[in-house]
Amino acid sequence: MPQPDKKTAKHDHARHDHDRHAQDATVKLAQELVRVASVTALKAEDQPESRRSIDLAVEAAEKSGATATRMEFEGDHPKWDYPVENVYLEWNLGPANDDDGEPVRHICYIGHLDVVPPGDAAKWTQDPFSGTIKDGYLHGRGVTDMKGSVAAFITAVEDLQKELKAGGKVKISMILTTDEEWAAVNGTNKVLQWLKQKGEAPDAFIVGEPSSQDELGSHIKIGRRGSLVGTFNVAGVQGHAAYQELFENPNRALALAIAILNSHEWKDGNEHFPNTNFEAVALKSGDFNASAIIPGKAEMMWNIRFTPDQTPDGLEKWIKDALANPPDWAKNHPDAPLLKNITVTANKDTASVPYYSEPADLALSAQKAVKTVLGKDAELDGSGGTTDGRFAAQVFPKAEIIELGLPERGGIACEKHKPEDYLSRGGMHQIDERAALDDLVNLREIFKETVKNYGQQQRKPASKRPAPQPGPAPGGAG
Ligand SMILES: [Zn+2]
Repeated sequence: MPQPDKKTAKHDHARHDHDRHAQDATVKLAQELVRVASVTALKAEDQPESRRSIDLAVEAAEKSGATATRMEFEGDHPKWDYPVENVYLEWNLGPANDDDGEPVRHICYIGHLDVVPPGDAAKWTQDPFSGTIKDGYLHGRGVTDMKGSVAAFITAVEDLQKELKAGGKVKISMILTTDEEWAAVNGTNKVLQWLKQKGEAPDAFIVGEPSSQDELGSHIKIGRRGSLVGTFNVAGVQGHAAYQELFENPNRALALAIAILNSHEWKDGNEHFPNTNFEAVALKSGDFNASAIIPGKAEMMWNIRFTPDQTPDGLEKWIKDALANPPDWAKNHPDAPLLKNITVTANKDTASVPYYSEPADLALSAQKAVKTVLGKDAELDGSGGTTDGRFAAQVFPKAEIIELGLPERGGIACEKHKPEDYLSRGGMHQIDERAALDDLVNLREIFKETVKNYGQQQRKPASKRPAPQPGPAPGGAG
């Protein structure tokens, strides 16, 4: 798709045909998918909607010759054991081996068809499951996260079919789950493990989640940091604030502990990936109606966002060591003796795992595709929350992974929208979730170009990226 003429887009809104893509194959498939109210099914009654969303995707993919393997997984968790509907789609469009007799490279798209609930439907301008097309946008819960992206990929393969049959040197597959938004116990992770048992080893994964904030193609994700949360419980000795030498103020201990931990300089990031960081996110202590009392206890919650060089165990140890053996400047601090009053708890069982995929052929193919379709230079980065990409990194550590999808905020930067809409509605998980028709069509073109570019690359010796391994003890190398 050529880039829309900026001048026209700016000055000619009234006459600009916003809905010229309303009959486009990608838009129509996205619309069909949005019309299924496939909120993550935690009960049997809701299963039919999940199944129907998969039916539609399978039907569309079969048009271009996909074979579908459906699988339902359940159990494996004391709380989140509900059954989940999944599908694996595979297209065998070209020869299985390339000219040198090597198996062609395998590229696998990962996506989900479940959506978060619409919230108060009365607040929506359109019915959240109507799939209304208006003013250049397709409206509906889940269109950005991420039915629009799924539709774009399926229709991209349909378009590519002929070219790939003629020797496209790439095998394409797709994993779709109906539980990404909730526990994700019986979704993508299980399908990946099934795939591995089958002896398949995709060379590359495209996670189709929203990957940029405002504009399609501004960013491509190549990893995500992990997250570890915990608390400090600080014991003190309560007393009169005028006789501080007689008591132990837990706030002094907390202040020094935060200063110590934040003085550590992490150097485990790189040009694409932010360093690990420690944040004090909530504090509880004292009484704002009692100005003369040193409190008897204090509590703090912290959150560490960490790179694949760190582990939850290592980070817990780092905190404990830093408080037990503080740096020299803190050792001599008058409040240093209070540090022993801090009890550290790390919620390791709920930690989410990070991943980082060193940019190689796939990231370059996608960047080139964005340049061709939109004329933009996509930035590679590893910011944002966690996705199913972490499972791909765990099950297939040698594969390259990127995340590329629609803009998180629904592409509402268009000035036709009221500025007050920005950030308050229109984005993923928000009221009036929507996706620009232009973005849907352009994303399909980007997927097509990415697959083509990737298929043209020479197969290189197995990825240079080493398997993730427990990194050096945090604090040691950093
Ligand atoms: Zn999503």
